Formats: sequence, structure tokens, C-alpha cells
Amino acid sequence: MLGLMQDRPLLISSILEHAARNHGGAKIVSARPDGSLVRHGWPQVAARAAQLAHALAARGVKQGERIATLAWNDHRHLEVYYGVSSMGAVLHTVNPRLFPDQIAFILKDAEDTHLFVDPTLVKGAEALADRLPASLRTIVIMGTEAEIPADCPLRGRFEVIAQESLIAGQPEHFDWPELDERSASSLCYTSGTTGDPKGVLYSHRSTVIHGIAVLQKDVFNIGAEDVVMPVVPMFHVNAWGIPYAAAMAGASLVLPGPKLDPASLHRLFEEERVTFSAGVPTIWTALLQWLRADPARKFSNPPRLVVGGTALPTPINAGFLKEYGVHIRHAWGMTELSPLGTANSRLPQNADWDEDRFLDYARKQGRALFGIELRVRDAEGKEIPHDGIAFGELEVRGPWVAKQYFNRPGDPAFTGDGWFRTGDVVTVDELGCIEIVDRAKDVIKSGGEWISSITLENLIMGHPAVAQAAVIGIHHSKWDERPLLLVVPKPGANPTAEEIIGYYEGKVAKWWIPDQVEFVESLPLTATGKLWKADLKQKYRDRSAG
Ligand code: ADP
Repeated sequence: MLGLMQDRPLLISSILEHAARNHGGAKIVSARPDGSLVRHGWPQVAARAAQLAHALAARGVKQGERIATLAWNDHRHLEVYYGVSSMGAVLHTVNPRLFPDQIAFILKDAEDTHLFVDPTLVKGAEALADRLPASLRTIVIMGTEAEIPADCPLRGRFEVIAQESLIAGQPEHFDWPELDERSASSLCYTSGTTGDPKGVLYSHRSTVIHGIAVLQKDVFNIGAEDVVMPVVPMFHVNAWGIPYAAAMAGASLVLPGPKLDPASLHRLFEEERVTFSAGVPTIWTALLQWLRADPARKFSNPPRLVVGGTALPTPINAGFLKEYGVHIRHAWGMTELSPLGTANSRLPQNADWDEDRFLDYARKQGRALFGIELRVRDAEGKEIPHDGIAFGELEVRGPWVAKQYFNRPGDPAFTGDGWFRTGDVVTVDELGCIEIVDRAKDVIKSGGEWISSITLENLIMGHPAVAQAAVIGIHHSKWDERPLLLVVPKPGANPTAEEIIGYYEGKVAKWWIPDQVEFVESLPLTATGKLWKADLKQKYRDRSAG
């Protein structure tokens, strides 16, 4: 027997309509590159998104058509987010920090017809002019006509128009189509650290359910009183769903624009009274170092932070909490998961742990959100015990997990029985909390046993002379692989190899301790700011540990 409830589809347009109708008091603050601010509210976002949709519809944009963006976190990008998906077209956010070859590949693979480009990124798009796909008709510069360079070489091949001219004079209301909730809403590519980037095609349904899920108290804990600042880019997995979740909650949104340096962010935290923000560890590490450089720098209202993307170093978490009263919550996700999968918040079993004990525990990535199922299997395919020690590859399933890549049927990441293989190697403890010990491809295989490169990196980050660290496996004639530690010393510090290696004594099994340390000036990062281990492995390919 079926239930007798209304079958209203879960659509992105309904999020926007809700925010505009019920949350006119929330503010949308958007920072320009010069630091000046544009102020709107949800009703204006809805009106301008409607104008954009009318303009695109008038140009013949159809449902399912891909519309790309190369843009920062700002109000115009937000309007494209809502306008494009709500009309039934597919928002394709492209990471401007990718290599030009990757951007060209992605645009071609998606067959975008329109490309929205931030004025600060037009030069990059011009450099790609010859490699832009044949499907592309129009380039929209996200500003006014004055922001289009006079000699813009894109003009010859494409229609080039400013976003303000595009929407000018269009009606401020759009009768959003009642789409099938399973229709595609947006497309995002993984950063392709291993091979070509792969597209993940989200649906309205997956986006709405993910948005509701991240609002929960034990995840982002966002309500209408919050002022939310996504530092995580809107081109990186939908800014972790924040543009949708904030609108559902009716929260205020602060969009920091292209300038993500600590001083610019801190100014927004203080002046806009930001209560919640999310970003990768690199951003928060830089902010903490900046705060410490001047005792006058602090938070008048300590915000709550969520961190993910790479592991949260405990010293950073401890520094924020003890010195600035800022609570950081550690979360884990992937492009294929829209992105949130787990978050580390307290349970009755650890509610009374003191600060230090929980700070140590917070290095773990957390428990499954409702809706996400986790399965961890060892090399033989057997599920591992939940003892916090055994490890295996994490697989997931749920209503906001991809079931296939765009244009790539049959990828081995998807199991025959409906799970997605994450490529993350994890332990699961008695509380159901996962800890990533490595990426399956980065784990160091020494004498038939596994060494977690991430554990070694995290530990050495506690050494006072270490600014950054990476551990990779290098060839060994007897053990197959041994760990090589690369260290960027802190400015002014001059540690010796013995001091660094000695730091591991007693902290890990003897055979885990790296045999060699190399001091380097910097470490290569991927377009999403993660350690680029593939590049390091290539560089040290011929190095041998014995
Ligand atoms: P890519 O880095 O390829 O663009 P994603 O942005 O989707 O892909 O990143 C997903 C990967 O990032 C995860 O599989 C995991 O390895 C890593 N990751 C994400 N969050 C965390 C975290 N909190 N701790 C450690 N690793 C993380």
C-alpha cells in the first residue's frame, strides 16, 4: 500500500523560493576584488536569478544543457547557481586553478554552451581560446560591459556579453518548471590527481537531500540566525552544499570573493559577524599563523569552523580552541558524495571527555551522516572489525552518492552491488568513527605490511621546526617500499635530519620510521590545495632506500 502524501518534487528552485519568501531579513554580502562589498538579500538573489534564467531561455538554452562557470564565491556566481539549475539547465562549475589542459578537457567533455567567467579570470580564458569546445556559443563576463577588455580576443569567435547586460530588462519572476526531481542540476569534476578529471552529475533530489543533511546539529548546525561564510570555493563540490543549505535555513551568507588571505577573511569574520565558516586546513592554518603574529588580533565572537578536504592537524585545532575559543569540526567528503559523508561530533560515549582527549580524537574524520552507509573491506573483501586498528578500503552508498561518472560508464570505482569505492583506506572504531589512514594509492607497502603516509605526516607536523611535510614510498630492494620524509622547515628554523627522525621514536612502530629526510623549500599542491603526491612520486621515482 502506498502512503497518501503529496508528491512534491525536491527541486533547487524550491530552495530559492523558500529563502526569498520567508527570509527577507537575511543578508547576502559579497566581496569584490578590491575589498568593497555588495549587499543583497535572498529576494534580490531570486529576482536576479529569474532574470538570468529568462535571458538564457531567450537564447534557446534547453533543459539539460550545460552552462559552465569559472568564478569565485560572489553574488553573481550565486545567481548563476540558482538561475541555471532552477530553469532545468545544468550548472557546471569549473575550478580555475586547474591546469589549462584540464580545463580544456573538462569543457569539451561537458559540451558546455555558455561559459560565465569572472573578470579577474578572463585572461586565463583568453589563453584557452583555441581550445574552447565547438559547443560553446556565448561567454558571459560576470560584471558590467566596462569589465570586458576592449581587445578581448574571445570576441571574434564567440558572443561575449556582460552578465549585467544579459539580465538587464528581464522579468524578475520566473515560473520555474516542475522538473522530475531526478533531473540533472549540476556537474562537477574531480580534480584528476590520477588521470583525467571525472564528472559527477548531481540531481535536484541529491542536492536537496544533501542540503538538508548538512544542516543537522551534528554536521554544520546552521540556522536562520547564522551568518555563514563559505571559504571553500563554489567551484569545488558546490562549496560543500553551503549555498543551498544556507538558503534552506534562511541564514545570511558572506561570499569572500577572490581574496582569501587571512587579513581579508578576518575582516569579514569581524565586520559581518560571521558565525560559521568552512574550508580546507591550509586556509585555517594560514589564518592561525596570521592571528598569532599580533596579540591584538582575535575574534570578538569566535565562529564555528568546519574543516575537510584533507586531514585536520591536531595542533591547528588545538591552537584555535585554546588560544581563540574557536571550535573546529572535522568532516570528510568527496566530489562523488556531493560532498559530505561523515562529521566528527560528540556522542554520549565521549561527551565527558576533557578538551585534550577530544582534540586528539577530532583528528578522525567522523561518523556517517544519516543517509550515508559505510562499508570497509580488507584486501580479501572481508568487512573489517570496528576496533580502530584494522583497516581497509571505504565504500559508501546513499541518496547523494554518485552511481556512475558522466560520460564514463563502467568505471571500476562502482561495485556491482551498488557501492562506490572511495579509494580511502580507513579504520573504524567502536563508536563508528572512521579515520583515514591513507589513500589506497599512497599507502606505503613495506615488507607486505602497510604504513600510513598520513599518520607519519600528521605526527611530524607536531615538531616545532616543521612547517609542512609529505611522506611517500620509495623503492627498496628488500622491503619493496620504504617511507621518504620531505620537510619544509619553518622560516628561521634549521632542524637536522637526526632531530626530525628522532621525533618519531616511541610514537610509531620502529619499522614505520622513515629512513631518509629531505629538506625542501616547498611541496607541490594540486589545484584544490592538496599535497600532490603523484608529482612527488614522479620526482623521486629513481630514489632508492636501499
Ligand atoms: P579531489 O581531491 O580528487 O578533487 P575531492 O575533492 O573529492 O577529490 O577529495 C576527496 C578526497 O579528499 C577523499 O577521498 C579523501 O582522500 C580526501 N579527504 C577529504 N576530506 C578529508 C579529511 N577530512 N581528511 C582526510 N582526507 C580527506
